[in-house]
Amino acid sequence: MNIARVLVANRGEIAIRVIKACRALGIESVAAFSQADRESLPARMADRAVCIGPARSAESYLKIESIISAALGTRSDAIHPGYGFLAEDPELAEACAKHGLKFIGPRPENIRQMGNKLFARAVVGEYGIPVVPGSKKVKNLREACGLAEEIGFPLLFKAAAGGGGRGIKIVTEPNDLRQAFETAAAEARAAFGDGTLYLERYIPNARHIEVQVLGDRSGNVVHIGERDCSLQRRYQKVVEEAPAPPLSEALREKIRQAGATIAREMGYENAGTVEFIVDQDQQQFYFLEMNTRIQVEHPVTEMITGLDLVEQQIRIADGQPLSISQSDVRFTGHAIECRITAESANHGFRPCPGPITAWDPPVGPDIRVDTHCFAGYVVPPFYDSLLAKLITRGEDRREAAERMQNALASFAVGGVDTTIPFLRFLLAQPDYIAGTVNTRWLEAQLRHFPLCG
Ligand code: ADP
Ligand code: ADP
Ligand code: MG
Repeated sequence: MNIARVLVANRGEIAIRVIKACRALGIESVAAFSQADRESLPARMADRAVCIGPARSAESYLKIESIISAALGTRSDAIHPGYGFLAEDPELAEACAKHGLKFIGPRPENIRQMGNKLFARAVVGEYGIPVVPGSKKVKNLREACGLAEEIGFPLLFKAAAGGGGRGIKIVTEPNDLRQAFETAAAEARAAFGDGTLYLERYIPNARHIEVQVLGDRSGNVVHIGERDCSLQRRYQKVVEEAPAPPLSEALREKIRQAGATIAREMGYENAGTVEFIVDQDQQQFYFLEMNTRIQVEHPVTEMITGLDLVEQQIRIADGQPLSISQSDVRFTGHAIECRITAESANHGFRPCPGPITAWDPPVGPDIRVDTHCFAGYVVPPFYDSLLAKLITRGEDRREAAERMQNALASFAVGGVDTTIPFLRFLLAQPDYIAGTVNTRWLEAQLRHFPLCG
């Protein structure tokens, strides 16, 4: 291993996850923290910790100069960006190269290609993979009206630079075009500094299925199977699982191969995820986008393969060839992940920062908790409200789901509201147990929650 010290340019559970992977590889870790995260677990757990600026992420976790200075100042060899923040900013990857640091992620040109959904759709279409029917850049409302007639309703306005479900607006009829166009453009400008929009046909009875890929510097690519992330609120994932339950073996294999093809054609290096939408009525799949980073839900893949994806990321960035071939990747059992956030589901998922007075996560075989929380930790109001990811594994889906129900029931948190009661409610629904949901299902359940008062 050439890498001896890694700067972790992130916070929360993913910072802990990266620190643990470094430790397992005998590598030192340096936590880059904001003033609001001085007392956080990553800052305490890493071999070293450096403050990179004030609480506001624009002045810390999003500030490339501060992160590069912190890496150079601590004589780190590499930077792991986690997910979110700068993970998909090609400028961080370029700045690393310029300063002789290894970026633990793909090459900047691949980040750039996939960072814009319009470029990505064009590139992937050329590889012969189906993309969701849609338009090029929509310049104005008049143009949108014409394009919408061609594509047909319902449809979505999407931000070319979008992510995290922001900048997506559904349009069910022509009269709604103006409002959707204006709000989507405003949201995209505010969130991404780029108001570019395009249109996509909306697939009403859909599953979100994504393929984990790994590629190395020599052009070797493997896929690590697929995940189903169809339980979503506001186009954001809430519960994920692997393998995807409803697919025929033929369709599953086609989707996995499509993911691998895209990575291979791009000359993709490091870990990435190719997202697809599956039309359950037509049994057809379409490319949605590619995330050029480790994903929040990567643990479900780890639980059914025994692979450590963050360790793989570090080895690849170190210049090592992939140690596994496609036939080495074996899938056993089923895994489910719940994202537990500090939000009150009873009050429109209002964020609930503040002190955690009690923290007693479930333990047991086939239960994994990825978290940065502890009793006494104060959840700061400045960042994402993710507290923990609870992952369970079973021999089959039924066993994984039962284990999840029990694990959620014994997860005791005091001081802040969490989404645990809501997750328990969701996972108890017969549709969830039967595995017959689509991407609209979760929001339809909100009408029935809370059940009493
Ligand atoms: P994925 O596509 O990996 O499943 P998301 O897109 O929901 O997951 O998660 C990435 C999003 O998580 C980012 O766009 C950001 O809003 C949020 N995020 C960024 N950094 C963190 C963090 N340290 N902890 C939790 N959430 C984060
Ligand atoms: P983001 O970059 O914000 O993650 P995505 O393109 O991945 O955006 O879409 C987020 C989610 O929105 C998808 O997982 C899916 O549930 C829904 N979605 C996106 N495009 C479509 C579509 N054309 N039809 C139906 N649902 C869609
Ligand atoms: Mg997405």
